[in-house]
Amino acid sequence: MLSYKNHKEKISQIKEGKLSLIDNVNHFLSRIDEKKSINAFNFIFKEDAIKSAEKIEAKIKNGNAGKLAGLAVAVKDVLAIKDKPNTCSSKILKEFKSIYTATAVQKLISEDAIIIGKTNCDEFAMGSSNENSAFGSVLNPVDETRVPGGSSGGSAAAVAAGLCDVSLGTDTGGSIRQPASFCGVYGLKPTYGRVSRYGLTAFASSFDSIGPFASNVEDIAAALEVLSGKDDMDSTSADIEVPDYPSNLSLDKKFKIGIAKEYLGEGISAEVKDGINKVIAKLKENNFEIIELSLPHTEYTIAAYYILTTAEASSNLARYDGARYGYRSEGVSNLLEMYKQSRSDGFGKEVKRRIMLGTYVLSAGYYDAYYRKAQKVRRLIKNDFETAFKKVDLILTPTSPFTAFKLGEKTSDPLEMYLSDIFTTSANLAGIPGINIPAGKSSDGLPIGMQLLANQFDETKLLKLSYYIQNNIL
Ligand code: GLN
Repeated sequence: MLSYKNHKEKISQIKEGKLSLIDNVNHFLSRIDEKKSINAFNFIFKEDAIKSAEKIEAKIKNGNAGKLAGLAVAVKDVLAIKDKPNTCSSKILKEFKSIYTATAVQKLISEDAIIIGKTNCDEFAMGSSNENSAFGSVLNPVDETRVPGGSSGGSAAAVAAGLCDVSLGTDTGGSIRQPASFCGVYGLKPTYGRVSRYGLTAFASSFDSIGPFASNVEDIAAALEVLSGKDDMDSTSADIEVPDYPSNLSLDKKFKIGIAKEYLGEGISAEVKDGINKVIAKLKENNFEIIELSLPHTEYTIAAYYILTTAEASSNLARYDGARYGYRSEGVSNLLEMYKQSRSDGFGKEVKRRIMLGTYVLSAGYYDAYYRKAQKVRRLIKNDFETAFKKVDLILTPTSPFTAFKLGEKTSDPLEMYLSDIFTTSANLAGIPGINIPAGKSSDGLPIGMQLLANQFDETKLLKLSYYIQNNIL
């Protein structure tokens, strides 16, 4: 067990000599070893982590350490770190090492965080259960017969099992929030453009965002502040001032909270609904104004999401051809065969399915019917949120319609799997931020997740209400 609640406490304990950073890092390393069966990590950077701990411990004592000094961080294996593997949990990149470091990771390192390893995920971040990985499935630490969610399953499981302080994940359609919900931790998807994507292996470039997982809101806020900001290496990163999130967590006014009727209708497990309703009731008791509203285009989110993201993926993944980097099939007679064979052998089933779907929706004759139409629907979904945020500060929904399902339960039915994202994809279509808050447990002890959504760049509101809920409602 850790002796601290959040990073702030960790730092004071180190300063007071009550905690040794080297012991702390060793604790995480041995715990990772103990929990090997959950398969959360693709790579562990033992020696580097201990070396950094020695250096940073001294800096803390000298009073010249960075904002995240000593924070033990695990990074999803789709974010580049110089000279380390970046496999995206795919056979096609299994031998690939990065030649530079992603901005998000570099920012953490520059503030003296310690990167302890890279976490398992669905191949190229495509999936909702972490069962599409060339490194094998990740098990949910709460119940090892169940999935941790996906695609950032390893990152969520690592925090839930106490294998690190904070982890990084990516969210294209829910891949931070949904696994956070299944594993019972906090996970925040920032506004599109808040965090630079430089060094993130692209899945769907107009949807992808990088964000933190943690066991508490304070650490989410501290990590987000460091991760955010304009980066010349990513032209889609926003040149908007980064608020001091960690110093602004207390609630100064009671927000208006919207409940969208489309998110609490049919198809949600009774226990999830019950869990969310309990939180809503407590918020009412605490004098929050709860306003019912409608997001009328909700029913089209999954269709629009899977058309647009597969289209972008089919283009982004064209670069893995056996020629430039990554896996190359041997024994082929000509160049075309080499491309075909390398891609056939190197990609897993789900990735191939998405490349085919994306190629189809972009092809002449189908472009207008699918791709262009889905773009229009994306605009309508964005408009729904713009209208809603004129009336309310935040929208509260379940994160997932169900709790963590059994390993293998949905692998034979991709459509059923895609429905796991029914409440999360809308935020990526609209480019808005969202957070998962652990909101109690089901009768079989599985975490129930609640989602808060905010308007673009309103992360401060998300964090303030999450902090209030963490301290007063749960
Ligand atoms: N589960 C969703 C998908 O399979 C979301 C993935 C993600 O956010 N990376 O596309």
